[in-house]
Amino acid sequence: MAISAAAASPPGAVRDHGFHPLRVARVVPETAESASFVLDVPDELRDAYAYEAGQFLTFRVAVDGQQHLRSYSMSSAPAVDAELQVTVKRVPGGLVSNAMMDTLGPGDVVETTRPAGVFCLGPGDGDVVAFAAGSGITPVYSVVKAALATTSRRVRLLYANRDRDSVIFGEALDALAARYPGRLAVENRLDVEQGFVDAAAVAPFADDIVDADVYVCGPTPFMDIVEGALLARGVDPARVLIERFDPAPPPPPVAPEPAAATGTTVTIELDGRRGSVEHHPGTTILQTAREMGMAPPFSCEAGNCATCMARVVEGSVSMYTNNALTDEEVADGWVLTCQSVPTADTVHVVYGYGEA
Ligand SMILES: Cc1cc2nc3c(=O)[nH]c(=O)nc-3n(C[C@H](O)[C@H](O)[C@H](O)COP(=O)(O)OP(=O)(O)OC[C@H]3O[C@@H](n4cnc5c(N)ncnc54)[C@H](O)[C@@H]3O)c2cc1C
Repeated sequence: MAISAAAASPPGAVRDHGFHPLRVARVVPETAESASFVLDVPDELRDAYAYEAGQFLTFRVAVDGQQHLRSYSMSSAPAVDAELQVTVKRVPGGLVSNAMMDTLGPGDVVETTRPAGVFCLGPGDGDVVAFAAGSGITPVYSVVKAALATTSRRVRLLYANRDRDSVIFGEALDALAARYPGRLAVENRLDVEQGFVDAAAVAPFADDIVDADVYVCGPTPFMDIVEGALLARGVDPARVLIERFDPAPPPPPVAPEPAAATGTTVTIELDGRRGSVEHHPGTTILQTAREMGMAPPFSCEAGNCATCMARVVEGSVSMYTNNALTDEEVADGWVLTCQSVPTADTVHVVYGYGEA
């Protein structure tokens, strides 16, 4: 998708990608390392926060006076749960997950974007087959609940955890399996007992897949093994949805690298700072901004959340993936910088128009 500069026109109407205050209603401990945060959505934000099972919010969290952006998926499902809830698991040494677990309590206000993401239940009526590990259960749990409550689809889940104490939503999944006999089958795997999930563990699920939608979320090595095993067994990659909590490198360009990508000068404006560099072919605008020592906003780095949006005011770029900006926004020069590479000799990008 090629996007050209919006010439000198003023920024047009931008969909609401800004941050909104939500009050924490309750904190529900899930395991020693994880908790769910139930968030109050005020009436005036109800429409904005309508969501699909499997989507996420991007939080703006201050830690030691510095703001950080992190995404957390809904563990609630709109057709099932009256309240909106995200679930956070501590990452060892992680800034925001630990700050949220240690300091966030009822009555506190968090700032989040509207729900975003495409890891959602599709319209088909075939089986839902899911693979989750650790905190990757969060969006999968939401999708599983939605599939059971709003469709007649059968659901099978392979759920991997380090040990019994680290299983999030274990009892809730058991209760769902009892409530939907014959429709939900959960196979729990514990690393301490069975070792890490390998291709052999995935095979029985993959062999059975006919007309199924497949959902995969967990640590990168887990997802790589599951994806590799599925594809090796002939599962259609178009039916496999993967939610990456760690940023994935952008996919290679669909078209050959544009000639203009060599010798291209990229100018970036951010937080009142402006810099220009020679572009390294294949590097995204977001990566270029980082190379320049800037701290551009970003979260999912997969083209889903719009946190990294900026406006092309000169030249043009090509976007690999865009699941977040509307056609009007793109026509207006807005781009997801994590997905954009230059396609002109001179490209000038300005961050910050989207700030609320
Ligand atoms: C779409 C999406 C949905 C997500 N949903 C969920 C969810 O539902 N639940 C959930 O728990 N998480 C979710 N995540 C992950 C979440 O956004 C965070 O990435 C996660 O909580 C870690 O953030 P952190 O600030 O705690 O860790 P960070 O501070 O970002 O650190 C992450 C890791 O990097 C290491 N590290 C940090 N800085 C350095 C350094 N300078 N050198 C070496 N190592 C370093 C840390 O030790 C740690 O291991 C989601 C992510 C995405 C993109």
